[in-house]
Amino acid sequence: MTQGFDTTAIHAGAEPDPATGARQVPIYQTTAYVFRDADHAARLFGLQEVGYIYSRLTNPTVAALQNRVAALEGGAGAVCCSSGHAAQIMALFPLMAPGRNIVASTRLYGGTITQFSQTIKRFGWSCKFVDFDDLDALAAAIDDDTRAVFCESISNPGGYVTDIPAVAAITDKAGIPLIVDNTLATPYLCRPIEMGATLVVHSLTKYMTGNGTVTGGVVVDSGTFDWSASDKFPSLSAPEPAYHGLKFHETFGNLAFTFHGIAIGLRDLGMTLNPQAAHYTLMGIETLGLRMPRHVENAVKVAQWLEKDPRVTGVTYAGLESSPWHETAQRLYPKGAGALFTFAVKGGYDACVRLVDHLKLFSHVANLGDTRSLVIHSASTTHSQLTPDQQRAAGAAPEVVRLSIGIEDAADLIADLDQALTAACG
Ligand SMILES: *Cc1c(COP(=O)(O)O)cnc(C)c1O
Repeated sequence: MTQGFDTTAIHAGAEPDPATGARQVPIYQTTAYVFRDADHAARLFGLQEVGYIYSRLTNPTVAALQNRVAALEGGAGAVCCSSGHAAQIMALFPLMAPGRNIVASTRLYGGTITQFSQTIKRFGWSCKFVDFDDLDALAAAIDDDTRAVFCESISNPGGYVTDIPAVAAITDKAGIPLIVDNTLATPYLCRPIEMGATLVVHSLTKYMTGNGTVTGGVVVDSGTFDWSASDKFPSLSAPEPAYHGLKFHETFGNLAFTFHGIAIGLRDLGMTLNPQAAHYTLMGIETLGLRMPRHVENAVKVAQWLEKDPRVTGVTYAGLESSPWHETAQRLYPKGAGALFTFAVKGGYDACVRLVDHLKLFSHVANLGDTRSLVIHSASTTHSQLTPDQQRAAGAAPEVVRLSIGIEDAADLIADLDQALTAACG
């Protein structure tokens, strides 16, 4: 990023349209692109020339978004996909094979825990969950079959923060890539690649779009990992039979992972982002640098108010001085610890359910990172597939509710919480 964050958020990837001069990125609502001639078509299909073939693989509106997110994250390239969960599969797909495993943090989005503990088994992959604050346990969990380490920068639902440089030191030594889900921090609060991450994934559904209109995801590649240093990553280093024996790393260098993501990942898995969604996300990113400071400012005010309230028995926000993660947050996330956290209500599960039912301004939804403030009781919803032990390990214990603090007036949010706590706790 040679320019400032806000300049990059508005301009990266968005030249005036070459056909019309349109200043805003047009929505290229087209499935296919006319080839100049038969030779052009053959060169595109053989990856000898880069261009547009079919919108399952590439689309100019989506490409603008890919370039913008890559620039904001300081990556070599990026591939958009249909959701944050699709991005996780797209990130793992080139690295994994039956019998291989990943090592992931216990503190993850509930759906990710389900994806990693259950669904990926169908591919013959497995996942070992470790507390990433215990760096020795993390190092010990990595074995000869481990092909990636996965964590969230700021983690859902507790808003805990991960010491990415310390984790990256371990993955570097082991010679395996570190994948960081940067959804809750966004590149405004955290740039994982600068801290040693290999790949960054996002749910664009959340703060990046920012207003609850889109489901989307992206995988950003740092371009710094040497896929040919060992024989662990044959999809990237060995001849690819589906492209006449082409070797992605040898041919595309630091764009190997990105080209593989498009030419194999999107081509064969088909988890494509549509251009209309890319348009909404491009719009959203233009104001990311204005929205995130307000989200953080409001989160600090609400968390500080909750912490002092006798009806509340704990607040997890890493932006609070009382948090065990406060020092890490100050050191690595100096612009703030995000705007998502949980708090425990006196009266447990039943009081949480009453609280959620009495909030008026906070919407009870399974989403986060909206301009609107949102609330959910994770144990009965997003994390209900997990055992109580897993719920606690993930920060979604039965007596806590999760808040995603929006950009309304903080005083109104506090007043709403106050009346709902009165209704819930008496
Ligand atoms: C929402 C979310 C996901 C999943 O993203 P979808 O766009 O809903 O598929 C993954 N990770 C985190 C941290 C999330 O908040």
